[in-house]
Parts: sequence; structure tokens; C-alpha cells
Amino acid sequence: MEPKIVAGNWKMNKNLQEGIELTNDIINKANQVPDDVTIIIGPPYIHLEKAASLTKDSKIKVAAQNCSSEEKGAFTGEVSAEMIKSTGAEYVILGHSERRAYFDETDELIYAKIIRALKHNLKPIVCCGEKLNERENGNHFDVVKSQIQNTILKLKEEDINKIIIAYEPVWAIGTGKTATNEQAEEMHEYIRKLITEKFGKEIGSSLPILYGGSCKPNNAAGLFSQPDINGGLIGGASLKSDDFVEIGKLFK
Ligand code: PEP
Repeated sequence: MEPKIVAGNWKMNKNLQEGIELTNDIINKANQVPDDVTIIIGPPYIHLEKAASLTKDSKIKVAAQNCSSEEKGAFTGEVSAEMIKSTGAEYVILGHSERRAYFDETDELIYAKIIRALKHNLKPIVCCGEKLNERENGNHFDVVKSQIQNTILKLKEEDINKIIIAYEPVWAIGTGKTATNEQAEEMHEYIRKLITEKFGKEIGSSLPILYGGSCKPNNAAGLFSQPDINGGLIGGASLKSDDFVEIGKLFK
């Protein structure tokens, strides 16, 4: 069975009270989403424990938006994978383009974070994607290939089934400009080919690859109907329970 996943990335939005309200709204509406769709919410760290306990008896899972590459110790302001796991969260978004752009995260650091997350049984949602100039120069496949080679392809085979990939063209994130169904599908197909070449057909065909970048209720159905797109990583629209739940209903 093909995985179907809608994952929300709240980014740096919602105080504690607003986060509880949004989580409860999503829980109350989640039964509108078919049972075979996995729903993941990605609130800021301060919400994780509360979000995990509120969603405990629901079908909603919780993701952090980042974690430290270090195990523990004198790293003021950092949050470890082990701490995240202890909140009840099950996933962690790693390598988001905003982390790469504003916090200088490199593939090397992202790989270290993936390893740390896996060590603590957190499932990484690993982001990749090209910038506008890289697409305009025709380098988008090479950029994504190098991001995948430096992270996912370095993993051991036994860890690959714990990974979700999110292809997020940077020019489409928060801009209202979505990749066309064809642009998204050709990159997803390419990423799946890279995974298949390294890990074989079984892993290649079952690994979830999500699309992210201005995915909304009015365009998700077209994207999700593509053969290599298993759902979405949703930013802006995950902050509105109606929109987020609506997106979860748009798998064919
Ligand atoms: C994201 O932040 O991962 C994202 C896809 O944002 P948006 O949906 O707002 O473009």
C-alpha cells in the first residue's frame, strides 16, 4: 500500500494557548480524513509535550521542526533528539530550507542530525530542494542529487524505512507559487530513482516522498494524484485546521 501523509510545519507560529486550540481543532476534524492517511503536526518545541498528550488517542502524530546534532551537554539553547523523543513526539523535520538559509545548516550537519534522531527512534522528515536561480540555470536535478547523496544515500539500509523525504523547491515555499504537477512529479520520480539505484526497488518504491511549497486545498489534489508524490509537507495552510484537514482529504 502506498503511503499517504500530510505533515504540517507550523514554523515559529502559535503561542502555547493558540497551539492547544489548533491541535484540538485538528483532532476534532481528523475523522474527516481517510484512515489510511497519516496526519502529522509540526509545532515549535514548546508545544511538543502538550501536542503529543492531546493527540495520544487520535490518529495524529507529532513532529519537531529541528533537533541538535549533539547528544547532550553544554549547547545552550539547543534541544536534543532524546529530549524530543521524551515528549512523545515521533518525527523530526530536518534540513528545512529555512534552516539551511538562515542558520547555515549544511548537508554534513543535517546528516549528523539524521543519525542522532535515528539513534533515539525519531523518524526524520528530510527536506531537499533547489533555489530559484538553481532551477533557472537548469541545475535543479544536480542540486537535489547532491543533497540526497550527502544525507539519505549515506544511511544504512535498515534505517531507510524510518525516513520520509520532503521535496520542497525553495522558490515555492511561502511564496504562493506552487510547482506544477509535472515539475513536482519529475523531481519526485528522479529522487525515487536515486533511492532505488542505491537501495533496490522495494525500498525505492515504498519510501514516502512528500511535496512541499505552497501546497493548499486548491492544488493538493493534482499534486497528490501524481504517481511518485505521497503527500505534502504543509507550511502556511497547516496553521488553519480547515485547510489542513481539507488537504488530508484530497488523496485519490
Ligand atoms: C514549508 O515550510 O515546509 C512549506 C512548504 O511552507 P508553505 O506551505 O507555506 O509554502
